[in-house]
Amino acid sequence: MRKKKDHYRTLGVHFGATFDEIKNAYRKTAVQYHPDKNPGDKQSEEKFKALSEAYTILSNPDRRRIYDQAEGICSDLNYTTSNRTTNEHSPTDLNDIFNDILQPKKSKSQTNKYTSSYKSRHQKVNPTYNVKNVRTKGKRGSDINTELAIPFAQSILGVEKSIQLKRDETCKTCDGTGTSENSIQSICPRCMGKGETSQSQGKMRSAQFCNRCGGKGTLIHQPCGDCHGVGVVRKERTLRVKIPPLTDDGSLLRLANKGHTGENRGDPGNLFVKVLVEKHPVLERDGYDLKCRIPIGFATAALGGKIEVPTLTGHAKFEIPGGTQPNKTFRINNLGIKKSEDEKGDLAVTVEIRVPTKLSKKQQKLLKDYKKTEPEHEFSGKN
Ligand SMILES: [Zn+2]
Ligand SMILES: [Zn+2]
Repeated sequence: MRKKKDHYRTLGVHFGATFDEIKNAYRKTAVQYHPDKNPGDKQSEEKFKALSEAYTILSNPDRRRIYDQAEGICSDLNYTTSNRTTNEHSPTDLNDIFNDILQPKKSKSQTNKYTSSYKSRHQKVNPTYNVKNVRTKGKRGSDINTELAIPFAQSILGVEKSIQLKRDETCKTCDGTGTSENSIQSICPRCMGKGETSQSQGKMRSAQFCNRCGGKGTLIHQPCGDCHGVGVVRKERTLRVKIPPLTDDGSLLRLANKGHTGENRGDPGNLFVKVLVEKHPVLERDGYDLKCRIPIGFATAALGGKIEVPTLTGHAKFEIPGGTQPNKTFRINNLGIKKSEDEKGDLAVTVEIRVPTKLSKKQQKLLKDYKKTEPEHEFSGKN
């Protein structure tokens, strides 16, 4: 978000300060930070520059008006260059001030022609006025946090998913202004149009968001009927979310500016999607390799044969040799995870050999016949 310069705060004057108040504030602080008095002091130089900029703007009625409007500070919209008397409040040459600062004894007569103040002009203005095209400072929308569960294979291959959420969006009826045809807007009496209230404790000044007007500086009477003056309405939305390949469980995806729209046309927040990866029934990831444990019958292990192995997209056949021992791991090339256009990891299949717990009569007979052929004392050894 743009960091605004608060020229009023820089000079330590309130909004609505008279020209003399602004000038006096500038004189007081500029003396303190003037480069002639603080040679080589970078901080003073910066402060002096900021003071001069603030003074240049606030001492010039035209520039002050433009600045006020841009910052959403109460401004006199009927007041245009065409109907004001020019030169009456001509911009003050900074050199005049410097002369004053550096030669404090100089006659004050020169300042008198500037005493007709901004504030007095403002007081002539009806504080209630129609609000077309008023620019107010928007509050940034808040972030949305959501979760999305995806199957294991999709977390590796990548996928595009839809998510549904409720989101604050700019009210189309009023285009986010919160106003209606009949709206009347008035200056917020609490913050006097600044959108924030300041408190001073000794030398410390702290600013707080004005909660009467929500930081807008103005109050809306007869607001937009759809958003009740807030400028945003809650909508149900379906958004497409692209999940890139190789997304780990718990990854947080950030979708910039897809969160809630801010009030008063503030910047939208972000959408954060936490990806939860569901476990695969058998496959697990190991870098670019996949691994799994597959049960096979003991006859297949002994005789060898084709078995089915799981892959990311389905199944594949794999031939195991005769005499395969329990917990033997086979590495199958190119059934793992894509590393590059022409390179893939392996699928590591560890076989578990199942011994049947129930045998049919026929199986029992076959195994008994087989048993007769087995060597009697396999472990007799030397003892
Ligand atoms: Zn306020
Ligand atoms: Zn509206």
